[in-house]
Amino acid sequence: MRNIISFDTKVNCSLCGQKGFYSEGHEDPRCPRCNVPVFYNDIYDTFKDDDIRVLYDFCDTCKIVFDHSGCEHAENGCDWQIYNAHFISKYEYEGDVYEGMPLFENEEEWLKEGGKIKILETICPNKNSICPKACYPKDKHPQDYRECDLN
Ligand SMILES: [Zn+2]
Ligand SMILES: [Zn+2]
Ligand SMILES: [Zn+2]
Repeated sequence: MRNIISFDTKVNCSLCGQKGFYSEGHEDPRCPRCNVPVFYNDIYDTFKDDDIRVLYDFCDTCKIVFDHSGCEHAENGCDWQIYNAHFISKYEYEGDVYEGMPLFENEEEWLKEGGKIKILETICPNKNSICPKACYPKDKHPQDYRECDLN
Protein backbone atom coordinates (compact mmCIF):
# COMPACT_ATOMS: atom_id res chain seq x y z
CA MET A 1 0.00 0.00 0.00
CA ARG A 2 1.24 3.49 -0.79
CA ASN A 3 -0.13 7.01 -0.64
CA ILE A 4 -1.09 8.96 -3.76
CA ILE A 5 -1.92 12.65 -3.89
CA SER A 6 -3.34 13.10 -7.36
CA PHE A 7 -4.87 11.03 -10.10
CA ASP A 8 -6.90 11.57 -13.23
CA THR A 9 -10.11 10.07 -14.59
CA LYS A 10 -11.01 8.54 -17.95
CA VAL A 11 -14.74 8.69 -17.28
CA ASN A 12 -17.26 10.79 -19.16
CA CYS A 13 -20.88 11.07 -18.10
CA SER A 14 -22.90 8.92 -20.51
CA LEU A 15 -25.65 11.56 -20.65
CA CYS A 16 -23.93 14.95 -20.88
CA GLY A 17 -20.44 13.83 -21.93
CA GLN A 18 -18.62 15.85 -19.25
CA LYS A 19 -15.40 14.34 -17.96
CA GLY A 20 -15.33 13.76 -14.23
CA PHE A 21 -15.21 11.27 -11.37
CA TYR A 22 -18.65 9.87 -12.16
CA SER A 23 -19.84 6.51 -10.95
CA GLU A 24 -22.69 5.23 -13.03
CA GLY A 25 -24.58 2.17 -12.03
CA HIS A 26 -27.80 0.29 -12.01
CA GLU A 27 -26.91 -2.44 -9.53
CA ASP A 28 -23.15 -2.78 -9.73
CA PRO A 29 -21.50 0.62 -9.45
CA ARG A 30 -18.69 1.56 -11.81
CA CYS A 31 -15.28 2.89 -10.90
CA PRO A 32 -15.23 6.71 -11.19
CA ARG A 33 -11.71 6.56 -12.62
CA CYS A 34 -11.85 3.75 -15.22
CA ASN A 35 -15.57 2.92 -15.57
CA VAL A 36 -15.08 -0.82 -14.87
CA PRO A 37 -17.93 -2.34 -12.79
CA VAL A 38 -17.20 -3.24 -9.19
CA PHE A 39 -18.73 -6.52 -8.10
CA TYR A 40 -19.82 -7.44 -4.62
CA ASN A 41 -17.55 -9.78 -2.69
CA ASP A 42 -19.32 -12.02 -0.13
CA ILE A 43 -16.49 -11.43 2.32
CA TYR A 44 -17.92 -7.94 2.95
CA ASP A 45 -20.83 -9.60 4.77
CA THR A 46 -18.37 -10.61 7.49
CA PHE A 47 -17.45 -6.99 8.32
CA LYS A 48 -19.38 -4.55 10.49
CA ASP A 49 -21.64 -2.00 8.77
CA ASP A 50 -19.34 0.90 9.67
CA ASP A 51 -16.19 -0.84 8.40
CA ILE A 52 -14.42 1.15 5.67
CA ARG A 53 -14.35 -2.05 3.57
CA VAL A 54 -18.16 -2.01 3.56
CA LEU A 55 -18.56 1.75 3.09
CA TYR A 56 -16.04 2.04 0.26
CA ASP A 57 -15.75 0.20 -3.05
CA PHE A 58 -12.49 -1.22 -4.34
CA CYS A 59 -11.58 -1.10 -8.03
CA ASP A 60 -9.50 -4.10 -8.99
CA THR A 61 -8.22 -2.26 -12.09
CA CYS A 62 -7.11 1.01 -10.45
CA LYS A 63 -6.50 -0.48 -6.96
CA ILE A 64 -8.13 2.55 -5.36
CA VAL A 65 -11.17 2.85 -3.10
CA PHE A 66 -14.04 5.30 -3.34
CA ASP A 67 -17.54 6.04 -2.11
CA HIS A 68 -19.42 5.52 -5.37
CA SER A 69 -22.66 7.11 -4.14
CA GLY A 70 -21.14 10.38 -2.95
CA CYS A 71 -23.73 12.85 -4.24
CA GLU A 72 -26.03 12.89 -7.27
CA HIS A 73 -24.89 13.99 -10.71
CA ALA A 74 -27.93 12.58 -12.50
CA GLU A 75 -31.06 10.96 -11.14
CA ASN A 76 -32.72 8.92 -13.87
CA GLY A 77 -35.22 6.72 -12.02
CA CYS A 78 -35.44 2.91 -12.02
CA ASP A 79 -32.29 2.58 -9.88
CA TRP A 80 -30.23 4.29 -12.54
CA GLN A 81 -28.07 6.97 -10.98
CA ILE A 82 -24.91 8.72 -11.95
CA TYR A 83 -23.07 9.87 -8.85
CA ASN A 84 -20.21 12.24 -8.14
CA ALA A 85 -17.88 9.87 -6.32
CA HIS A 86 -16.25 10.83 -3.03
CA PHE A 87 -12.67 9.95 -2.12
CA ILE A 88 -10.44 9.77 0.95
CA SER A 89 -8.19 12.86 1.20
CA LYS A 90 -6.64 12.36 4.64
CA TYR A 91 -6.31 9.24 6.76
CA GLU A 92 -4.44 7.57 9.55
CA TYR A 93 -2.72 4.22 9.11
CA GLU A 94 -0.63 2.50 11.76
CA GLY A 95 -0.10 5.72 13.71
CA ASP A 96 0.91 7.92 10.74
CA VAL A 97 -1.29 10.57 9.12
CA TYR A 98 -1.30 10.83 5.32
CA GLU A 99 -2.66 13.61 3.08
CA GLY A 100 -3.96 11.83 0.01
CA MET A 101 -5.46 8.43 -0.49
CA PRO A 102 -4.26 4.86 -0.29
CA LEU A 103 -3.34 2.86 -3.38
CA PHE A 104 -3.31 -0.89 -2.82
CA GLU A 105 -1.22 -3.67 -4.35
CA ASN A 106 -4.28 -5.83 -4.89
CA GLU A 107 -7.66 -6.73 -3.42
CA GLU A 108 -6.03 -9.04 -0.88
CA GLU A 109 -4.11 -6.13 0.60
CA TRP A 110 -7.25 -3.96 0.66
CA LEU A 111 -9.12 -6.67 2.55
CA LYS A 112 -6.23 -7.23 4.96
CA GLU A 113 -5.13 -3.62 5.64
CA GLY A 114 -8.28 -1.63 4.83
CA GLY A 115 -9.77 -2.15 8.28
CA LYS A 116 -6.75 -0.44 9.88
CA ILE A 117 -7.35 2.80 7.98
CA LYS A 118 -9.03 5.59 9.87
CA ILE A 119 -10.52 8.18 7.51
CA LEU A 120 -9.92 11.77 8.62
CA GLU A 121 -11.17 13.76 5.61
CA THR A 122 -12.93 13.09 2.32
CA ILE A 123 -13.34 15.13 -0.88
CA CYS A 124 -15.77 15.51 -3.76
CA PRO A 125 -13.65 16.34 -6.82
CA ASN A 126 -16.75 16.96 -8.98
CA LYS A 127 -18.45 19.09 -6.36
CA ASN A 128 -21.65 20.70 -7.65
CA SER A 129 -21.50 18.86 -10.95
CA ILE A 130 -25.16 18.42 -11.85
CA CYS A 131 -26.12 16.77 -15.12
CA PRO A 132 -27.99 19.00 -17.57
CA LYS A 133 -29.30 15.88 -19.37
CA ALA A 134 -30.60 13.88 -16.40
CA CYS A 135 -33.97 12.15 -16.90
CA TYR A 136 -35.06 13.80 -13.63
CA PRO A 137 -33.25 17.14 -13.84
CA LYS A 138 -32.46 18.98 -10.64
CA ASP A 139 -34.54 22.06 -11.46
CA LYS A 140 -37.70 19.92 -11.68
CA HIS A 141 -36.78 17.30 -9.05
CA PRO A 142 -34.68 19.08 -6.41
CA GLN A 143 -35.70 16.51 -3.76
CA ASP A 144 -33.69 13.82 -5.61
CA TYR A 145 -30.45 15.76 -5.24
CA ARG A 146 -28.65 15.98 -1.90
CA GLU A 147 -26.49 18.98 -1.00
CA CYS A 148 -22.88 17.86 -0.98
CA ASP A 149 -21.24 19.00 2.23
CA LEU A 150 -17.67 18.06 1.27
CA ASN A 151 -14.92 20.29 -0.09
ZN1 LIG B 1 -10.94 1.78 -11.70
ZN1 LIG C 1 -20.22 15.32 -3.42
ZN1 LIG D 1 -23.90 14.30 -16.95
